[in-house]
Parts: sequence; C-alpha cells; structure tokens
Amino acid sequence: MRQMRISLGMMATVNRAVSLMTLHNPELFTGEESGLRLLMLKIYARFEVQLLKVFWFTFQSPLAKINVTRKLMYLALAKFMAEHAIAGNYMTLDEVVDFINKLPEGNSAFAVGPCRCRLAIGHRVSCPHPLETDIVIASGTPIWLALFPKDYRVIPKDEAIHIIKDGYEKGLAPGVFRHMYYKGSTNYFAICNCCKEACLPIIGYRVFKPEKMKFIPGPSRAVVDPELCQGCGACVKVCPFEERVLVGGRSHTINCQGCGLCAFNCPQKAITMVKRAL
Ligand code: SF4
Ligand code: SF4
Repeated sequence: MRQMRISLGMMATVNRAVSLMTLHNPELFTGEESGLRLLMLKIYARFEVQLLKVFWFTFQSPLAKINVTRKLMYLALAKFMAEHAIAGNYMTLDEVVDFINKLPEGNSAFAVGPCRCRLAIGHRVSCPHPLETDIVIASGTPIWLALFPKDYRVIPKDEAIHIIKDGYEKGLAPGVFRHMYYKGSTNYFAICNCCKEACLPIIGYRVFKPEKMKFIPGPSRAVVDPELCQGCGACVKVCPFEERVLVGGRSHTINCQGCGLCAFNCPQKAITMVKRAL
C-alpha cells in the first residue's frame, strides 16, 4: 500500500509538472503542429490498446472500489487523461455531422479502423457492437494509418458520416477526442463511437463519478417534458453515462454529457436537446 501511494504520488507530481510546463510553454505541448505533441500522440497510438487493457483491469480491481485508492488513482492519472491528454467531447448526431462537415476533406483526411476499446476488452464484456468504428481525423489520420496500415483504411467524408449514423442507431455515442487539450486548443485526432459496454472512457467516467470526472461538455443537454414522459425507461437504458433516472414514474436528467441518445430513443419524443450555457 505504501509503495502504491508513493508511485501514485510520483505520477501526480509528473502530471503537475506537465501542467506547469504547459502553462508556461503552451505551444510546446498543445500546438497543433508541435513536434513534441505529435511524438506523444504517436507513442499513445502505438500502445493505446495495451493501455486500455491496463485501464480495464484497474477499473475492475478492488482499488477502484475503495474510496481512498480510487481518489488517488483519479488525481494521479485519470483526471489529467480525461481533461487534457485524451479529452472527449460527446455530441448529438446532428452536431457531430455538422462538425465533420466543417472539417477539410483533403487527401486522406479520414480513415477508419477497429475500435481500440472493443479490441482491448470487447470479448470480456460481450460487446455486441460493430468493430470498425474508430474514425481518425486531423493529426490522428497520418499517425494511425502509418502505424496500423493493415487495420485502417482511408474513407471519404460521406462514409465517415454513414458509420456514425449507423452506430447512433445502434446506441453508440459519438465523441470527438482531442489530444493535449488546453485552453481551447483543438488537436482533434479521432471520432469514437462509444458504447455503454466496452468504451473505456465511459467506463472510467462511471467509475470516477464520485470524483466528478469531466469530459469537455457537449454543446447541448437533455431536457424532459414531464407531461409527455410515460416512464417507460428506454432513455435510462440507453444513456451510456448512467445520467438518467426514473423518479415517480418520470425520467429525470442528472449530469447530461450531451450525446442525445435518450432523445433519439424516446418513443414519446419527450426529450429535447437544448443548447448548453457554456
Ligand atoms: S424514453 Fe421517453 S417516455 Fe420513456 S421514460 Fe424516457 S423520457 Fe419518458
Ligand atoms: S442524458 Fe441523454 S443526452 Fe445526456 S448523456 Fe445521457 S443519453 Fe446522452
């Protein structure tokens, strides 16, 4: 236990050092063209699946169930990962399509390959979702194509949109991921189509809920009309973040992350996505 606390303490110190260096030299780590950032992204891409497996086993371990050790894990690593290193931003289907339409098409702008989370743990959680849903964009595309030429293929923008629409109908939440996100830096590298069962960022979000783990807030949040809600629970079932609950036979929103899956799946059209005050 003492050794673990020392290692977690060391990791927290490294995280703080990176944050301080970033504050003083923002372009060093956060610039779209920063060589250091791109090198870090390459290293992440190379070991991503292995890293996700480590996360999975850590989330399953007793350490994630004990308040003190879970909090240490969060402060030492998960907070930095989620808020900066690999920062997710969940959106509704319309919002993500709009986002993609604004990206330059170019040569080899988009590529698709197997979802890294489903590759890492899909078989352990009986994930029923399609595998080829990991869409790399911007600085991610050349890196993932170069490292995994047999797994990733270049696709046109239309096909990227088609994959996301198909996934959305199957209950997958589209999340735009940024690398080394600080003070509004873009650094987009992937659009993931995340599920409740196997998506490690979402599993991590649920594990670290007591620590109030955050993604970049989605542009919209869900609002329920209690007059229309019939309490069927379909929205509760589809929310991958487990941020919906039935109270007194009506659905309530807790801390909406903005994916819009509940609104899409409500048979009564009782849920509206409204713009979030940011
Ligand atoms: S899916 Fe719609 S009707 Fe069913 S509980 Fe949710 S808000 Fe109510
Ligand atoms: S409450 Fe609805 S929109 Fe918000 S995160 Fe859950 S499913 Fe997505």
